[in-house]
Amino acid sequence: MTAAIRSLLAPNPGAMTLDGTRTYIVGRDRPAVIDPGPDDPAHLRAILDALGGASPTAILLTHSHSDHTAAAPALAAATGAPVMIARGSHLNPEGDLISRWLEEGDEIETDAGALHVVPTPGHAPEHVAFHHSGSGALFVGDTFMGGLDTTLVSPPEGDLAAYLRSLERIASLAPSILHPAHGPDIADPAEAVARYRRHREERIAQVVRALRAAGPSRTGDLIDAVYGAELDPRLRLAAEGSLTAILGYLAAEGRARALPGGLFHLLD
Ligand SMILES: [Zn+2]
Repeated sequence: MTAAIRSLLAPNPGAMTLDGTRTYIVGRDRPAVIDPGPDDPAHLRAILDALGGASPTAILLTHSHSDHTAAAPALAAATGAPVMIARGSHLNPEGDLISRWLEEGDEIETDAGALHVVPTPGHAPEHVAFHHSGSGALFVGDTFMGGLDTTLVSPPEGDLAAYLRSLERIASLAPSILHPAHGPDIADPAEAVARYRRHREERIAQVVRALRAAGPSRTGDLIDAVYGAELDPRLRLAAEGSLTAILGYLAAEGRARALPGGLFHLLD
């Protein structure tokens, strides 16, 4: 991490947040804060201490999930900084928290160079990444989980086809490093994109094999066949969501058909 980019780990570890949410501060005098994190007084204090009285040009949100955004109102109140997120967010639809809706190609200025907005839907429909032109770093939110080879893509918010396209989009940027919101930095982005794509393709192939073996099935019927009986019970809901995303993807691709009663039937 360059001197222009700092990260602060929030005290919210968990099965879905790994060691906690990472808040990034880009710049010193006119910084941007990316994903202020959960509503936790100690974490807010740590962000304000790191800012050292500097007024952020923006509080940037990769997506709406509360482990990234719940601190935004308090940080905005304490600093006067504008809060920005892409359209599609379920946060505050009346708009009095959000000062600006981020769009493809927007540039957010900091004293350490601009951050470019890159739409990366998949984990959530409004998800964006921020590309730091100076260092080539990409702030990827929940599109990657540091130390893992997968992230949560679960309907109704998650969309597997969109996620796979976002992986390609990220590869095309050739970033120098990925800064995820959970887990450590990813030093080799090209390798990580390939690994994430491979992981998801293997899961899709496993679901196809399980459907072929079992005949028409519901999501719940396939969990043990795809994830094995040793699946961490805390991850069962996430696994079910991920399977639902894959079944929806296969149906959209014309490889499976949804039948009444939540059943899916393999066509190929
Ligand atoms: Zn999330």
